[in-house]
Amino acid sequence: MSAAEKIRCDACPVLCYIAKGRTGACDRYANVSGELTRVDPLVVIEEAQDKGTPLVPFAGRADWDGGIVKPGGTFVTAIGAGTTYPDYKPAPFIVSSQVEGVDMVTVVSEAIFSYCGAKVKIDTDRHLGPERSLVRCQGEPVGHVTSGEYGSQMLSLGGVHHLTGGSKKEGRVTCDTLMDLCNRKAVEMTIDEGATIVVEAGRAPVVNGERETRMRVGCGSATIGMFARQWFEHVDEVVVVDDHITGVLSEHQAGKVLGVRDTGIKIRGRKSTPGRYFQVAEPGTGWGGTNISDPLSILREFDPKHAWPGLTLLMVSTTGDHYAYYMLDEDLKPVEQKLPARLRLSVERIQENCEPALCSVLFIGGAGGSLRAGVTENPVNLTRSVKDMLTLVSSGGAPVYVWPGGGITFMVDVTRMPDNSFGYVPTPAIVAPIEFTLRLEDYRLLGGHMADVVKLEDVTGVERRTVSPARDNPWPMAHRNFRW
Ligand code: SF4
Repeated sequence: MSAAEKIRCDACPVLCYIAKGRTGACDRYANVSGELTRVDPLVVIEEAQDKGTPLVPFAGRADWDGGIVKPGGTFVTAIGAGTTYPDYKPAPFIVSSQVEGVDMVTVVSEAIFSYCGAKVKIDTDRHLGPERSLVRCQGEPVGHVTSGEYGSQMLSLGGVHHLTGGSKKEGRVTCDTLMDLCNRKAVEMTIDEGATIVVEAGRAPVVNGERETRMRVGCGSATIGMFARQWFEHVDEVVVVDDHITGVLSEHQAGKVLGVRDTGIKIRGRKSTPGRYFQVAEPGTGWGGTNISDPLSILREFDPKHAWPGLTLLMVSTTGDHYAYYMLDEDLKPVEQKLPARLRLSVERIQENCEPALCSVLFIGGAGGSLRAGVTENPVNLTRSVKDMLTLVSSGGAPVYVWPGGGITFMVDVTRMPDNSFGYVPTPAIVAPIEFTLRLEDYRLLGGHMADVVKLEDVTGVERRTVSPARDNPWPMAHRNFRW
């Protein structure tokens, strides 16, 4: 095939030469009969009759020509819109429409993010790995374990150092990992000195081959506080085993207020405040996120001054997944007994109060100066307009959180976005949709590319995929999103 039959794609710095009938390196652009063509349809959200309908395709792939457009009820996302490069060129679509009598404009672009990543929240008590440990995919470092949150372990994945600062393979694998996670695919990762996990946005995590079901009801101390009244007078002592804060009923403030008698129990670990112990064991995937399988291993000998034969003891984890019931014998040694029915209810109540364990994936990206140039000739004006609540940022029509401070660094929950919102280019970088919506007059004032504004109903000849708004997603064109 001669070079003459190839066309050059200029949508990213790779500048592929694409032969007829073939796609470029990212599979997003193709040479269709000599025309450079974005192969995925443009995703459009239309307010459905049934506002509860989730983001599902209902029109399939259809050409926009002849389609009924409902200005105000139609939102053009950046998914499938394409990219312009270099960035001084206007964004691919700058679409105007009237919403409740106000002229609005939405500027859409599939942005190429070299500075981006994913923040992943994994609802589990199990220890996944020490903080700062590397998270690997296919053996390549793609991120690290960061500070745990209440009932969840957190990962910070991607970022410019993994995308561009390591080996070529590290960059490629990081890019693939981010794209798959953000497109809600299941991804297996390993953590140095830790667990093997499978993460899929909106689904329960799998830790070392076991699917997690519940996140904990609270820390051990909180669990004592919540259930003290249900244990009082049914059992002499309760220990809620937790890697972070193990709770002991008789010593805890809740037990004191209820008048629970001293039991002479002694707990290994570091006492924080009465009835609250840190570091009773090492972190792990056993009881309450510790490494123990035998709960008695966190107890020392009972104090004979206070303990008595026949003393009853319930030990339970923060999810109620693990529990055991004991009675002290004549030598004050705990002997395991069948859990009485009166206590079974309290264990079931702990389980019932645990929410389902899920993985949450938030894409984070920074709309850099160059991306902003596709919106306005004076990029800093866009940042100011966003901070002034004159411009709404969305990603695939989903609401985003814009970080305070400089730039437009945003986070978006990928489960609120249409399917396959993310792509990549082999630089490597992630391609993610970003839309800026504002009043047409405000767009003119911030130095927008007014000559490139097209009316929604005049956007024809574009293949589109129409989806309904996601449940709970605010409508991006609604007045309440803006300061005016
Ligand atoms: S990688 Fe994709 S966007 Fe970049 S030049 Fe090649 S075909 Fe175009």
